[in-house]
Amino acid sequence: MIKANKICQSCGMPLNKDRGNGGTERNGSKTDRYCSHCYQKGEFVRQGITVEQMRALCIEKMVEMRFPQFVAKLLTRNLHKLDRWKNA
Ligand SMILES: [Zn+2]
Repeated sequence: MIKANKICQSCGMPLNKDRGNGGTERNGSKTDRYCSHCYQKGEFVRQGITVEQMRALCIEKMVEMRFPQFVAKLLTRNLHKLDRWKNA
């Protein structure tokens, strides 16, 4: 089971909001670290993306979902602190 407070360590999306129910490892098991949009079969869906590009993508998606842009920016402002980007 995915804990309610878990967020994807790549894009920051709450994992309980992920319709794909979280990413998958190479062996097909679920991970509770990444969402299904970011991580499939043990690999990142978008390889070589920078944190700025990821942030722009997230903002774009949220605006599509009718979030005001300033809210989208606010929700993504700590993206660089997530595990995937910490050492980048
Ligand atoms: Zn994600």
